[in-house]
Amino acid sequence: MQVLFIEDDTALAKALIESLQREGFTVNHLAQGNLAVSSIMTDLPDIVILDLGLPDMDGTDVLKAIRKQSADLPILILTARTSLEDKVIGLDLGADDYLAKPFEVDELLARLRVFERRASTLKHADLTIGKVTLDSVSHQVHVADNVIDLSRREFMVLKALMENAGRVQTRESLESKLYSWGDEVTSNTIEVHIHHLRKKLPDRFIQTLRGIGYIVKLT
Ligand code: CA
Repeated sequence: MQVLFIEDDTALAKALIESLQREGFTVNHLAQGNLAVSSIMTDLPDIVILDLGLPDMDGTDVLKAIRKQSADLPILILTARTSLEDKVIGLDLGADDYLAKPFEVDELLARLRVFERRASTLKHADLTIGKVTLDSVSHQVHVADNVIDLSRREFMVLKALMENAGRVQTRESLESKLYSWGDEVTSNTIEVHIHHLRKKLPDRFIQTLRGIGYIVKLT
């Protein structure tokens, strides 16, 4: 599970990142709202933890920007604002859950486990775009009715592209996904995988945006 953690309090962030990593989460920590918004554009995490009091922009605006990119990404907001009104505003803007500071780490972890359970139910569903169906449980990919043979890395690249369909994936973000699986990545690895994938997939299923990255368009 990849967590995007947006929090400007470095002491709190450091402690929480350690706890999250101990629980097996991969954590990407950003201290500014604008960085978080641009990161969401290219790389969707599994869960967002968002502090509402950020130095450069209001957390509620970050929340709105994230919701524009993804309607169902689980978002937990953290805030020192404890009034009922602030809580309602956060939930109205599309946060899934809310934790007021100060809080116990165990409480946060319990909330995240709820998100995780929800996400794993979703992930069991097949992902179908056009003629291509990807089953992330059996690791099988079908094109129309035919099973196609993919290496593990090709599968990971295709999965990242299909899970983020409609959104450009930069070479760097695809590389970082392979890295997180403990694979060595050389400078042309992604191009090579894309080249092999294209031979097995329908024409123009994976499109190149020159100098930017790759995209699978929603049909
Ligand atoms: Ca803060």
